[in-house]
Amino acid sequence: MIEDLNYMKKNPQPTHKPQLLYSKFEEAEADALLSSIGQAIIATDSLGHISRINQAALEMIGFKEDEILGQKFINLVQAIDPQGKPIPSTQRPITRAFTKKMTINEKLYYKIEDRLLPVSVTVSPIIYQDRPVGVIQLFSDITEDVEADKMKSDFISLASHQLRTPLSAINMYSHILFSGLRGPLTPEQKSLMKVILSSVNQMNELINTLLNIACIETGSMKVAVKPFSPNELINDILNDLHSQVQYKSIKINQNLPDTKQQIISDPTLMREVYTNLISNAIKYSRRGSIVTIRQSLSKKYSLLKISDQGIGIPLSAHPYIFTKFYRAVNASSKSPEGTGLGLYIVKQIAGLLGGTVWFESKAGYGSDFYVRIPREHPSYKERARILA
Ligand code: ADP
Repeated sequence: MIEDLNYMKKNPQPTHKPQLLYSKFEEAEADALLSSIGQAIIATDSLGHISRINQAALEMIGFKEDEILGQKFINLVQAIDPQGKPIPSTQRPITRAFTKKMTINEKLYYKIEDRLLPVSVTVSPIIYQDRPVGVIQLFSDITEDVEADKMKSDFISLASHQLRTPLSAINMYSHILFSGLRGPLTPEQKSLMKVILSSVNQMNELINTLLNIACIETGSMKVAVKPFSPNELINDILNDLHSQVQYKSIKINQNLPDTKQQIISDPTLMREVYTNLISNAIKYSRRGSIVTIRQSLSKKYSLLKISDQGIGIPLSAHPYIFTKFYRAVNASSKSPEGTGLGLYIVKQIAGLLGGTVWFESKAGYGSDFYVRIPREHPSYKERARILA
């Protein structure tokens, strides 16, 4: 709100301030209410000046009331996003709540002296005569939650790494036995070995998923950018998924551009995104149906569209589909082995690649998933500029 002078010009503020309508009694009542609430609360006027603040907020940001009243909150306290970048004033929750006239919930850091305080913030606009005249900001210290989350992610990461080594030994020796190199197998032994190999495969996938989650949540996922052909990547993925495709008699229609064209991004992370979306399309397809993969390249973007004729996603599930552990009822009843983690990972990784992912779907009619990634990852230009 503070920087947005154009908005202020276009939306002149009401002539009488709402607080003039308060009686002394109501004012005292509001003060008592504010100070009795344990959560930090700050009220700001239409210019972002602090008009009220309670004791919990003063203690959290380390100011005295008379130092802070009338000051602009966003000038006093710097906000940092979860990736460690300062949030510009136009993107601060209080600015967005005011200009968009809607409640914003977010987790971020406040820079208090030299330390970063993790906070959960809820900002709601104060609407008077249909116009925003200020905001109420509630925030709470979530240091303990962040630490518990970090311990959880560290544990998942450690356990997954430790499980990988014995699992790859099981995988290797099972393959040797299955191949018949150590003596021929009876048909019954062969079919038992198949079950072992498929279970090892499932465990491998789960471990990879857990490692990805741990990397995303600790912010340690690295983006390693280089030129590569998205066509080759898609063909490679389809080779890996060959047995799933065959098992369900799925027909894959490919619509890929000129093979020579390249993009500059992280091929390992893109593989993770594409594999998740393509294997979902296969998993949630009806036996014998068609999955269509369209890749198009514009000057700025690479767009992948994956269409299936499967079970589709009920409308009520649409808002939650990228949420961690979420599975729609029609999916969990048909295919109980899912984790609900794949699309969460897809969304986070697409974000790291500077891209977006979305879908269109109707229960019973199939789904179209889209992922759009810049043809050149922003870090590549930056590196080229530094090296020049
Ligand atoms: P999982 O497939 O392991 O359940 P995901 O995170 O990959 O987890 O997907 C989350 C949910 O989104 C699925 O459980 C399912 O309800 C829905 N979904 C994803 N892709 C499709 C698809 N192609 N068709 C129908 N539903 C899908």
